[in-house]
Amino acid sequence: MIDLRSDTVTKPDDRMRAAMAAAEVGDDVLDHDPTMAKLEETVAELLGVEAALWVPSGSMGNVIALMLHVKRGDRFLAPAASHVISSELGAGAWLAEGMPDPLPWDGGPGRPTPETLRSAIGGPQPYFNLKTTLLCLENTHNAAGGTVTPPDEYARLVAVAKEAGLTVHLDGARIWNASVALGIPPAALTVGADTVQVCLSKGLGAPVGSMVAGSAAFVTEARRVRKMLGGGVRQGGVLAAAGLVALENIDSLAQDHANARALAAGLTELGWDAAEPQTNIVVAGVPDVDLALAQLRQAGVLGYPLPGHVRFVAHRDVSADDITEVLRRLEKE
Ligand SMILES: *Cc1c(COP(=O)(O)O)cnc(C)c1O
Repeated sequence: MIDLRSDTVTKPDDRMRAAMAAAEVGDDVLDHDPTMAKLEETVAELLGVEAALWVPSGSMGNVIALMLHVKRGDRFLAPAASHVISSELGAGAWLAEGMPDPLPWDGGPGRPTPETLRSAIGGPQPYFNLKTTLLCLENTHNAAGGTVTPPDEYARLVAVAKEAGLTVHLDGARIWNASVALGIPPAALTVGADTVQVCLSKGLGAPVGSMVAGSAAFVTEARRVRKMLGGGVRQGGVLAAAGLVALENIDSLAQDHANARALAAGLTELGWDAAEPQTNIVVAGVPDVDLALAQLRQAGVLGYPLPGHVRFVAHRDVSADDITEVLRRLEKE
């Protein structure tokens, strides 16, 4: 089986496992594991923020940020089909007690325009109306097909949010892919965001771990909420060591992007309706998702279901030759 369901299927390689085995560790809940501390400092610097906190998953990172940003009943805005709205079981509502409201993609796939954001926020409201206090952006946008929000457009969205007094959280699960696709450092994509969540367990290949980052004061509070949610771990250095190796894999995402482009081009040649990818995610429109997945499986290829589409994700455990093999198998179908 060639597994293109997600970049989360990547397995730690020998170098990563060796670093995990050799990691210096302590009790991270009692007094900060040294390798955790090193990872947190490294990521904070990469993202251009004061501090960062390791969390077991991106979903936990996002919900911690939302819990700290949103008051009960506050409305938060996010692009339609963003992970915080569609793929976290409503935690933004039931744990953070916010009222999610999706923004349409009128600026391109996964991207609301600043004008749409401005009108969604609206002007002064009667006291009984929803209060909008948070904008949650997603770069790259997963469900839209790994689409990139460029820094100038992102800056305009942030400016509209700030002008209206909103806090900005960036779900940067795949910020590394956006950074590589644009050829700019990750820190250039976090400017103006109050908090950021990034994943180490996707294209970068760590088995576990995400980071939630922002001001030192935010991270102090985030550490408390993480413990509240059961996310404080003890000898976390074993996992942080994997994270440190994962960060060395950022540049290699360019290969995943090239593989995704080759896959989309090949699929198009075979008559599929596949959009040209900006990063590592290819979404192909299909008339019957279940049928398409079954046919793929028959050919030894795993895809992932989205409404009306199959998603294919290029990742470090799939080579350029594997992509050629996928296309060869589908040609035979
Ligand atoms: C994967 C992902 C997350 C977090 O996922 P976890 O499985 O909880 O680590 C958050 N946001 C986006 C956009 C993602 O793709």
